[in-house]
Amino acid sequence: MPIQLLPEQVSSQIAAGEVVERPASVVKELIENALDAGASQIGVRILQAGQKLIEVVDDGRGIPADELALALTRHATSKLSTAEELSRVSSLGFRGEALAAIASISRLTLISRVENSDAAAQIQVDGGVAGEVKALGAAAGTQVRVEDLFYKVPARLKFLKSERAERSRILTLLTRYALAYPEVRFSLEMEERNRLHTSGNGERREVLAALYSPELARRMIAVDADYGDIKVSGFISPSDVTRANRAQLNFFINGRWVHDLALSSAVVQAYRGLLMVGRFPLAALFIELPSQNVDVNVHPTKTEVRFLEADQVFSGLQRAARRALLAHTPVPNLEPGLRWQAAPPAAESFPQDEASQAELELAGEDAPADESRQAPLPHSEVPLLRLVGQVGLAYLVAEGPDGLYLVDQHAAHERVLYERFQAQRQQVESQQLLEPQTIELSPAQSDLLEGELATLGELGFEIEPFGPNTFVMRAMPTLLLGSDPEAALRVVVEDFEEDESPLEAERDAKLIARVCKRAAVKAGQRLSTEEQQALLSDLEACKAPRSCPHGRPTMVHLSIDLLETQFGRRGAR
Ligand code: ADP
Ligand code: MG
Repeated sequence: MPIQLLPEQVSSQIAAGEVVERPASVVKELIENALDAGASQIGVRILQAGQKLIEVVDDGRGIPADELALALTRHATSKLSTAEELSRVSSLGFRGEALAAIASISRLTLISRVENSDAAAQIQVDGGVAGEVKALGAAAGTQVRVEDLFYKVPARLKFLKSERAERSRILTLLTRYALAYPEVRFSLEMEERNRLHTSGNGERREVLAALYSPELARRMIAVDADYGDIKVSGFISPSDVTRANRAQLNFFINGRWVHDLALSSAVVQAYRGLLMVGRFPLAALFIELPSQNVDVNVHPTKTEVRFLEADQVFSGLQRAARRALLAHTPVPNLEPGLRWQAAPPAAESFPQDEASQAELELAGEDAPADESRQAPLPHSEVPLLRLVGQVGLAYLVAEGPDGLYLVDQHAAHERVLYERFQAQRQQVESQQLLEPQTIELSPAQSDLLEGELATLGELGFEIEPFGPNTFVMRAMPTLLLGSDPEAALRVVVEDFEEDESPLEAERDAKLIARVCKRAAVKAGQRLSTEEQQALLSDLEACKAPRSCPHGRPTMVHLSIDLLETQFGRRGAR
């Protein structure tokens, strides 16, 4: 085949791949256009997670009828005219690619009216082929409707995640813009349901409440620092509010959300000494710097930036965060200990005098374990243990027929709870709460929770939707009684958020494991002798007592042999 120039339509479709990766990318470009047009209200409507319809309506300055066709042409932009201007762009868009790219792979309708014109104009593009411009009546502003996204490039469809995952991306995206532009009124409707609504009153903390929860929004620490060329403002979480990954660290450079690991590290560094290993804070931080000091033209999606003076930016950010954090003196938080739930059924089948049993076995050297005495514990892989005590508020020390056992109290309790749940699998006992608890979540969290209500129901949580982003919990598993119902639910939901792609098949087991992890006693909790005793007996009764549901060991064994070798007794004999 001879070399030939690709037809415009084909090259657009190829280029579209860089800009439009998924439905959320379309939403992003359209929102940025609306913001660049100075909109004070932006409404987004989504059907079938964006594959069927993405509609963005704004009240911005609009596009004149005679420029409508041009707006959909590649490399056509009103935001830039010389390469020199590229070094100081202040608009979100500037490449003139988005509309053309989107139009080349979908059916796009663009309707717009500039303020002082008496009619709006409409143009439709089908897979890159534009129709005529028609006049019609519409409000001032712009309306973009994208239907059947990717119908021209079906290969793309295969790479999309589940609808729920796509929806959650769109929601995350919108909340980011809502945070960055608190003076703009955003609304998001997905699958005919209202998912997000901001007032546009300029109050960032209010947007935070919509993004996370009202409670968390109240607790977030304000950051406000001015270092001349670099200004940092926004919010960071107190050190006791953390997540298992960096997903909730949001950064905006001159109003643009950016993905930048160095910025995340700078903030995480600001928490040095205050966070547990593997935990990360939450942040919504806005960095303002002269536009010529930052290059946003790194990638077509414009979410990566390069700084002229990177070190200054990072150290400024870190300093601002650290100061805010230290100025906010944390109140020591003494958690009321989780009440231990003794389990009568398991205790019944258990020999009463396990202490004497263990002693008996220890008495004679190589005394064969008394099989008959252990019979009530059929699948047990651990021998009877005699409790010695608790060390470091984290481990139980016990004596067995063959040496010393150190039991991790958290891992052990996780295992115990997990097996009890599994045993009751078909009908988990649940207990009505005396007072039903209402719980308010962020829109993203409520979306996730809604998808799991059935499974949680099987696990004994009776939860129902109760108004927008609010749920009411009427019952919880009896096994978890004693823990704060709201806290229990919140941590489970937070775990959903952190779980990117749960395997359907393992869902239930994973969910149970999570609930147990959260409900189990923690390291650092003092247990009474009875509680320690009960935990040991319960562990002995487990089918797989040696590891927690996540695979970590519940106990370490120091055998008599090992002890003797260590103390030099072996050689002497
Ligand atoms: P860019 O945003 O990089 O300029 P786009 O393809 O996204 O490129 O948009 C092309 C042009 O169409 C913009 O420069 C702008 O003039 C116009 N435009 C697009 N969307 C809107 C909107 N919502 N309101 C007003 N003008 C718009
Ligand atoms: Mg644009």
